[in-house]
Amino acid sequence: MRPRYLTKSKFKLAIECPTKLYYSDKKEYANQKSEDSFLMALAESGFQVAELARRYYPDGILVESLDNDEAIKLTADLLQRGNVIIFEAAVRYQNLFLRADILIKKGNHLQLIEVKSKSIDGSDKSPFMTKNKGVQSDWKEYIIDVAFQKYVLFNAFPDCEISSYLMLVDKSIECQTEGLNQRFRISKNENGKVKIIVSQEMTKEELSEKILRAFNIDHEINYIFKNEKYDEVRSFTQQISFLAQHYADDIKIYPKLGSVCASCEFKASQEDELSGLKSGFKECWSQVCSFTENDFLKPTILDIWDYRKKDKLIESRKFKMSQVEEEDIEPKSDSKPGFSRTERQWLQVKKVKYDDNEVEIDKEGLETEIKKWIYPLHFIDFETTMVAIPFNKGDRPYQGIAFQFSHHILREDGAVEHASQFINKEIGKNPNLDFIRALKVSLENDNGTIFRFADHENTFLNMILNQIQQSNIFIEDKEQLIDFIKLISKSTGDSKEKWKGNRCMVDLLQLVKRFYYDPLTNGSNSIKKVFPAILSRSLFLKNKYSAPIYGSIKGIRSLNFKDWQWIKTENGKNVDPYDLLPNLFQGIDVSDDQIDFMFNDESLKAGGAASIAYSRMQFSEMNELEREELTQALLRYCELDTLAMVMIVEEWIDMLGK
Ligand code: SF4
Repeated sequence: MRPRYLTKSKFKLAIECPTKLYYSDKKEYANQKSEDSFLMALAESGFQVAELARRYYPDGILVESLDNDEAIKLTADLLQRGNVIIFEAAVRYQNLFLRADILIKKGNHLQLIEVKSKSIDGSDKSPFMTKNKGVQSDWKEYIIDVAFQKYVLFNAFPDCEISSYLMLVDKSIECQTEGLNQRFRISKNENGKVKIIVSQEMTKEELSEKILRAFNIDHEINYIFKNEKYDEVRSFTQQISFLAQHYADDIKIYPKLGSVCASCEFKASQEDELSGLKSGFKECWSQVCSFTENDFLKPTILDIWDYRKKDKLIESRKFKMSQVEEEDIEPKSDSKPGFSRTERQWLQVKKVKYDDNEVEIDKEGLETEIKKWIYPLHFIDFETTMVAIPFNKGDRPYQGIAFQFSHHILREDGAVEHASQFINKEIGKNPNLDFIRALKVSLENDNGTIFRFADHENTFLNMILNQIQQSNIFIEDKEQLIDFIKLISKSTGDSKEKWKGNRCMVDLLQLVKRFYYDPLTNGSNSIKKVFPAILSRSLFLKNKYSAPIYGSIKGIRSLNFKDWQWIKTENGKNVDPYDLLPNLFQGIDVSDDQIDFMFNDESLKAGGAASIAYSRMQFSEMNELEREELTQALLRYCELDTLAMVMIVEEWIDMLGK
């Protein structure tokens, strides 16, 4: 049996929840976090950033072996030298093991550098500590990761002085290399492991203005060593030993339930269980609160929408939503039309407590909103990404890239059409100017109300506006583009200039939150939940979309579908329209459940499924046919997103008899 070493990734997992260590390597437990490193390489720019970091140390030697013992020996041999720079150095101390991204030895001084693709503003003087000296919560997991490594090195090399660094992506630096991101292509080797192909080496000049910057974090690590406490008794270093011992002996640490369980990757889906996989989540909840199979079918307190006192409820041994009382939520009006946040939470709980499955709608509030709308109504959805390594010279890291939009129109007589769309197919190009020009052409022909779902579209329009305003290149239609963006958007909290355009987009998500609650969504306001719920109830939508009229000659105009039928049933239940679309991740070993787990959060949209599919087209080796198939799949997904918005509005209008 291979020794069970506590590695830095295992340690990170155990910091989220120590019980997870027990489930982590066991094939009999479902795990919704994809282990597919190729998918992760596309989702985060980590592999490309690590490869760029190595370019800053041309004398560095890579320890390639994946065999722990061999890698430890190779590292030990290299460390015999007086001075050396090692990539992926392998170090073991007792049952702790690490691979250091970059280890620099100068005499008896070791510099440990952990490379992360997270962005930072390099001009920030004290990015990691709060005013009252604690470590910033956003940075804690990164500091703790390096603290673990420092502890291992400190014990493995007690005679060495060790300094530790986080190397991060400095978003304040302008890139000096044209086409930099295209030089780091993502591929797989024969064992299915990710490898980065560097198509063109960087010159000394290009390396002189670095977009990655190393920050010394010894002070922050000392703070963690001194102040961190676990279960109120163990220090940071005692916690490392505690976790390492339990992991080595394969002993489960007693679960401490909390809000963290809501996103536990060891929840099994129905299909997982049917295929014989166990649910770590169910084991924990049965062990601590004696849940039966029947209890798992009902909503728990983890499902309460946007509720911040879940840990408190668990402490008072309230686990099921039906146990929650009004005083736990304290619903209060916020003096605005519709449901306040707490009123909506209490509504959700009440529906469960009293077994009420009816939709709750604030008719008056919604009618007032509908009266303000101007026809034709426009519905837009953007697909975007933010890449760590910039496309062009002069761009900054993590600059927003808007690569696709879809646009539907709903007319006053009820006619629907998929009116326009945009997708960038060109490799290595920042498409923002083409995108915004195409959007302007799509929307400038009338004065109709424009709908978005969530803040994402407004945030990206603000980003593109900034890019246009700060650009050094000549843009012929600069003023017209700026005016157009300001007309349909509003300033975000961090903009110096404040505006709200005369045709500012209406956020459909806000209308859902304030005026409409469907118990079938179980508290989620994601369009992926609201849309199927509305579809399953609406007679109007059933009548209209059950026939294959979508994309038919006399039916509804579509740019990507032909004679399509949106309402289909299987075993008496509606099939989720998103399940009718082709998989965006063909050829990658990842299940639909894993995709849902990783990307189902609206707030992750900038890094969501479409963004990863786009990274695949931009950064990996694909032939023309594969690229075209993926483009078609992206077009269909985005079209369904705006059609879903149309259908929600159609149902509301029908429901209110407008
Ligand atoms: S269900 Fe909760 S306690 Fe159990 S492993 Fe998951 S997060 Fe930890």
